[in-house]
Amino acid sequence: MAETASLEHVARLTLVQHDLLEGEEPNVKTQAAVLWEYGKDWQTEELELDDPKSGEVLVRLAATGLCHSDEHVRIGDLPMEGLPTIGGHEGAGVVERVGPDVTSVREGDHVVLSFVPACGRCLSCANGHQNLCDEGAELTVGLQRDGSSRHHVRGQDARLMCLLGTFAPYTVVRESSVVKIRDDVPLDKAALVGCGVTTGWATAVYGAGVSPGDTVAVLGIGGVGANAVQGARIAGASRILAIDPSEFNREQAKVFGATHTFASAAEALEALPDLTWGRMADSALITVGVATGEVIGEALSLVGKLGTVVLTSLSPVTDNQVVLPMFEVTAFQKRLVGCLFGDANPRYDIPRLLDLYVGGDLLLDELVTRTYPFEDINQGYEDMRAHRNVRGMVRFDQ
Ligand SMILES: [Zn+2]
Ligand SMILES: [Zn+2]
Repeated sequence: MAETASLEHVARLTLVQHDLLEGEEPNVKTQAAVLWEYGKDWQTEELELDDPKSGEVLVRLAATGLCHSDEHVRIGDLPMEGLPTIGGHEGAGVVERVGPDVTSVREGDHVVLSFVPACGRCLSCANGHQNLCDEGAELTVGLQRDGSSRHHVRGQDARLMCLLGTFAPYTVVRESSVVKIRDDVPLDKAALVGCGVTTGWATAVYGAGVSPGDTVAVLGIGGVGANAVQGARIAGASRILAIDPSEFNREQAKVFGATHTFASAAEALEALPDLTWGRMADSALITVGVATGEVIGEALSLVGKLGTVVLTSLSPVTDNQVVLPMFEVTAFQKRLVGCLFGDANPRYDIPRLLDLYVGGDLLLDELVTRTYPFEDINQGYEDMRAHRNVRGMVRFDQ
């Protein structure tokens, strides 16, 4: 049943390119999952796509991950500067066409779409923090560099989640958003490295600077948290405590390297003194679905002297309340650091992570709990909210 549906589906998604008249803009007719109103579901629409302009790339996507951040956009916690917006920011595919002045990729290249662009020239990029690239300021603007849109739905210009819009079989993005990768990694696996995997892995490796022998607590085992667990494992942590109220998520955490699991931070707090001879955790990584002031306080209580708490989860933009143990922060020199994309450099870390996957260290196959046909994106999110998947994925190439 599902297979038949997906075959019909591919037929409908086939690239249509009409014969061009002199001076006419070529375009692609395809589909996209679009948000028209906060709080409503993603809606599948016909998408008309212009040809890439200067510094832009047309990508045929193989797959998109269903990341929690799109849910933040959908419910309005992370509002775009306007709607309609095409969702999706975790994709990989093949370069179909390049616009003028594109130099780093060419037609046929396999690419991961990085949820933060990396221009390579701004001060943050030059300073080795591509995750903070100045172009990232436009993630919620969602337009091309010249301020216009190549994406049109129902005759209106559409914006793109994280400048990508991977909830569509084709998209046009900035060259700064694509990272060329090796050809031998399946693209549906590579897609995961565009956001959740890199964010989680790097939260442990760079955000917390996990060292061999460390004790690491990971709060929240979703698509990002599971990768924070494996980042801690790859970095050599001795004890990895996975904390999540969902039993399913706790079981998943063990697959990625968790040595102990707890349903709550309070349970972990009780066990830590015995586990660590009173030293407590070296770091606590906050990768819950929505960060609250409460979870920040809990994480700070789990770490010991010189302990680091890394805040990777998003919070509603208006939320600014946190209660933290100030005396302990001072007396034990605890640190609380924010972390975007795990402080990773997409152009450096994405190819490196795929090497780790090929070498067998980084688990990607185990991450995707369920694959959905394109029209079932909303079901994928329903399952995520109900903790029935760690990572859902839509594949366009099936
Ligand atoms: Zn994401
Ligand atoms: Zn930059």
